[in-house]
Amino acid sequence: MNNSNDLNINDLIGKWVSPRVQSINAYAVPPAENMIKLDAMENPYKLPAELNSGWLQALSQCEINRYPDPQCVALKSRLHEVLDIPKRLEIVLGNGSDELILLLTLLLGGKDRTLLAPSPSFSMYKQIIETSGANFRAVALGQNFELVLDNMLENIQECQPSCIFLANPNNPTGNCFAERDIKEIIKAAPGLVVIDEAYFPFSGTSFINEIEKYNNVLVLRTLSKNGFAGLRLGLLIAPPQWANQLEKLRLPYNINSLTQVTAEYFLQHYNIVKSQANEIVKSRQNLFIKMKNLKNIQVFPSETNFLLFKVKDANRTDELLQEAGILIKNLHKPDHRQDPALENCLRVTIGNENENQTFFNALSNL
Ligand SMILES: *Cc1c(COP(=O)(O)O)cnc(C)c1O
Repeated sequence: MNNSNDLNINDLIGKWVSPRVQSINAYAVPPAENMIKLDAMENPYKLPAELNSGWLQALSQCEINRYPDPQCVALKSRLHEVLDIPKRLEIVLGNGSDELILLLTLLLGGKDRTLLAPSPSFSMYKQIIETSGANFRAVALGQNFELVLDNMLENIQECQPSCIFLANPNNPTGNCFAERDIKEIIKAAPGLVVIDEAYFPFSGTSFINEIEKYNNVLVLRTLSKNGFAGLRLGLLIAPPQWANQLEKLRLPYNINSLTQVTAEYFLQHYNIVKSQANEIVKSRQNLFIKMKNLKNIQVFPSETNFLLFKVKDANRTDELLQEAGILIKNLHKPDHRQDPALENCLRVTIGNENENQTFFNALSNL
């Protein structure tokens, strides 16, 4: 039986799609219509309406019949300036930083390679690395979700990872790792260390100025968490030699014209985005204090735009919040394949004042 038409589609899939891919599910995004959406670390604030006409004007000049600038020259130059990225470092752009994690995995992965990240951490590391066919090594964090340096160094020694992903601050735990520990890991690593600074707008701590002190440090950033989740624009900041390797794997037109024009335009008004991030940090501090005073809840310190908290029964709490019209992230569900350290844990994104109050009231009523 050589002809594919002798088999039905499911049999063909069974024959040709790798068992790894057959065994997983596509990334599920729950429906959020008419819900208060506090599950995905989005910025709750819109940009001022007076910026709309300038934005639309910039978009209308966009030549949509032409391919986009494959090098994103104008956008990169503005990113260098606005985000204070040293001129000697290159920027590789991705359709969200998720795409850059995929490129790094393509560059450094393969079936005889191991890539490593602490656990619990950002779920896409494991998902992307494992589906690519490379090995993923998860190293447990400590009681307060801190790096356990001995354990990290032992695992690094043992599996010789081609790449280590450190989300700093970490998602879904919210904390920053100790700078000293990160530097020890950088020195001990046989391969690359990628510091994922998706939450930089809220933590303000960065390794960008450390990149040039080492040969193996790259920094990931994204515009998603501070107001532009819909744009899909991630940045990898790297020494030119590493950037050149990644550029070979990047699809030439991965950043579309509308994203380039829009990002360029709004980066001119980045002070607005920064003050929104400051508002969000203040709201987070308020909500943290209020949640800390609730009985039967443990809330963890955060340097991000979300709070991780632990309850008696996460599934039940999630259900009741959904009935109250509030969508948060349940990290307890086994189908998220999350770490046992997140047992009965939930994660709430900081919204606007009203949303935070509605969430808090619903939670305290449970
Ligand atoms: C949200 C998030 C990302 C992904 O961001 P995109 O740029 O939207 O793909 C990457 N890393 C961490 C730690 C995140 O929390």
